[in-house]
Amino acid sequence: MEVAVFGTKSYDRHFLLSAADGTDIQWSFIEPRLTETTAPLASPFEAICCFVNDEISSGVLQKLAEGKTKLIAMRCAGYNNIDLPIAQELGIQVARVPAYSPYAVAEHAVGLILTLNRKYHKAYNRVREGDFSLGGLLGFDLHDKTVGVIGTGKIGQIFARIMHGFGCQLLAYDVHQAEDCQKIGVKYAALEAVLAQSDIISLHCPLLPATKHLINDEAIAKLKPGVMIINTSRGGLIDTKAAIGGLKTGQIGSLGIDVYEEEAELFFEDKSESVIQDDVFARLVTFPNVLVTGHQGFFTQNALAAIAKVTVQNLNEFAAGEELSNEVKVT
Ligand code: NAD
Repeated sequence: MEVAVFGTKSYDRHFLLSAADGTDIQWSFIEPRLTETTAPLASPFEAICCFVNDEISSGVLQKLAEGKTKLIAMRCAGYNNIDLPIAQELGIQVARVPAYSPYAVAEHAVGLILTLNRKYHKAYNRVREGDFSLGGLLGFDLHDKTVGVIGTGKIGQIFARIMHGFGCQLLAYDVHQAEDCQKIGVKYAALEAVLAQSDIISLHCPLLPATKHLINDEAIAKLKPGVMIINTSRGGLIDTKAAIGGLKTGQIGSLGIDVYEEEAELFFEDKSESVIQDDVFARLVTFPNVLVTGHQGFFTQNALAAIAKVTVQNLNEFAAGEELSNEVKVT
């Protein structure tokens, strides 16, 4: 089976080639991401492989349906970028990698907290310049701080366990309560209480209509002044303009994000020679207490190997006409 891989990077090529070794899969690696413009490239392929910022809108799906495409194998867990009802209507199946390494993302969230708090990024540059002063590097003990976890699924639970190891008090909000979290002393509370009582808030819920702009002006007004907010989930959970307002008043003390609501135009590419056109993003990165990473939470060897393995399994099930174990359907 021939499979077109959209938005291919060298690391995707490496891990997919090695996972498919000994199978009948032939990869066609395509560098651009999937958009209405690039969709015709998919037409000869029964299966295509996509990632978080591929545009799988109804317009793109119509174009895919005009060609041979019958399967979209997502090499990620989230599928908020797919118009799923339209895919289903057009007879295009969607499979994903529901879990690969929740540790990768949870550990990255903790890295953002430590870096924002103890300012390793500033210290690294300062020491290299021969500046050994400590002004501006003052942090706080994580021990005994209240950490609010919003979404205690696979990643949120691991994040909670790590923060428990630091001696933090843990509060959580989720539509389902996880027993494993309660066992380590996580206290579930209403969203308002988590917002109001936490010194650090970390977002680990999916992007859904119910969670879009969960952190907006109204939520920001309820926060404990000076709170640290971490988002390694999906950019759309935070209303960026509202967050900028909160940073300007000091209501938000610091912000660490691995995801950004308009990231599709920026992330995963080297834009160092371009003028950034997104003024909201440009403003965001001027704050000394904002740390942005370019959607690298998943980026560990373990996670990439697991993603490639499950993607190959999804493709093989499709090729064999079997039921897809990781199919995503409209619920
Ligand atoms: P998961 O499905 O295991 O957990 C999600 C949790 O969110 C569940 O417990 C669910 O009940 C909860 N939830 C659903 N609706 C909610 C709501 N309205 N309010 C509060 N909680 C709600 O998912 P996961 O594997 O833990 O992943 C979490 C998110 O992390 C994913 O949705 C994805 O967007 C993101 N992610 C980011 C990266 C990255 O590289 N930065 C990588 C993988 C996943």
